[in-house]
Amino acid sequence: MIPYGRHHIDESDIQAVADLLRDGFLTQGPMVGAFENAVAAYTGSKYAVAVSSATSGLHLAAAVAGAGPARALVTSPITFVASANAALYNGAAPLFVDIDPETVNLDPAKLEKLLAANSNVTAVMPVHYGGLACDMAAIRDIANRYGVSVIEDAAHALGGHYADGGVIGNGAFSDMTVFSFHPVKAIAAGEGGMIITNSEESYRRLLRLRSHGINKLDDPFIHTEDAFADGEANPWYYEMVELGYNYRITDIQSALGLSQFGKLDQFISRRRQLAKRYDAAFSDFANLRPAQPGESRDRSGLHIYVVRIDFKKIGMGRGELMRALKARNIGSQVHYIPVTSQPYYRNLGFRTADYPNAADFYDQALSIPLYVDLSDDEQTMVIEALRELVG
Ligand SMILES: *Cc1c(COP(=O)(O)O)cnc(C)c1O
Repeated sequence: MIPYGRHHIDESDIQAVADLLRDGFLTQGPMVGAFENAVAAYTGSKYAVAVSSATSGLHLAAAVAGAGPARALVTSPITFVASANAALYNGAAPLFVDIDPETVNLDPAKLEKLLAANSNVTAVMPVHYGGLACDMAAIRDIANRYGVSVIEDAAHALGGHYADGGVIGNGAFSDMTVFSFHPVKAIAAGEGGMIITNSEESYRRLLRLRSHGINKLDDPFIHTEDAFADGEANPWYYEMVELGYNYRITDIQSALGLSQFGKLDQFISRRRQLAKRYDAAFSDFANLRPAQPGESRDRSGLHIYVVRIDFKKIGMGRGELMRALKARNIGSQVHYIPVTSQPYYRNLGFRTADYPNAADFYDQALSIPLYVDLSDDEQTMVIEALRELVG
């Protein structure tokens, strides 16, 4: 079976985890910091906070950006539910802006309209769909004009670049950036995520929220009479200063993540090769086209390869096509059912028809196999199966 996506684990990854199990800490040990330092250095950002998943990272980033009751957070309807849930976890309202059909990323012009009409927005969370960076210069400019924070959901985009060539996560356009290390993403840590920021204040708050709201680093104690005796800090003493979570990542996950991270550029370059070969192969298909522009491949993180198919024209439903591919041992998937179509969000009053570009995209989207170990021969099978079925 050729899946739509799959992690790549080699002997050095196995060795890294085995070494840790033999000699290391299991939960909070030196690997967490080493992993954080490596990703911070790669992005050129000052601070990194590794967490249990990108979902928990988005939750905490939204909290730090001020999401809470009577505030709202804006994201794209074409994303995984975790992006919008970050608002709800904090008691804030999710809002959506429609996508630009050319990039599948949220449309800055529509963002501006929404911000002009809603004064309660505290943060915008652009999602770099498929690893292709949103128009961050425009989004940052609009957010600045409306006094709104920017949190990049970069779950798809580790290793990608902005239009100006900067590394995604460098903080040039946002307050915080969140990466995912779920196995189908660029690198695998089992589960895991990381929040990147240049703000020391945000960094300190993220550290506290990650671990129960207990003070960290050199945060001053509130009850000094309890904290100190005879001018010395009491060795057992700690203070919980706000309601936090246990969103820590383990040293085991960090050892795997760090080992994988060393191969990131190699992973991306193989994904890029495969994506460009698909682009070239599909150029003469009448009813199928790549969902994102071929010119963007050199800067995309290329988490998924998505095509748009005119199912009405081919006279075949998407389910039928997916089953026909599966009969040929080819996996496929849809990224994503619009968040606004989920029952929970419909109950909140959202309707996908209010986001017509997202609705159109959803009708046509199909993710086809893209992963590091997809061989040229297997990719040829995928291309030929699609040629036969869709033409
Ligand atoms: C995968 C994903 C997440 C959540 O990542 P986890 O690490 O699995 O929690 C959030 N947003 C997007 C866009 C994703 O694809």
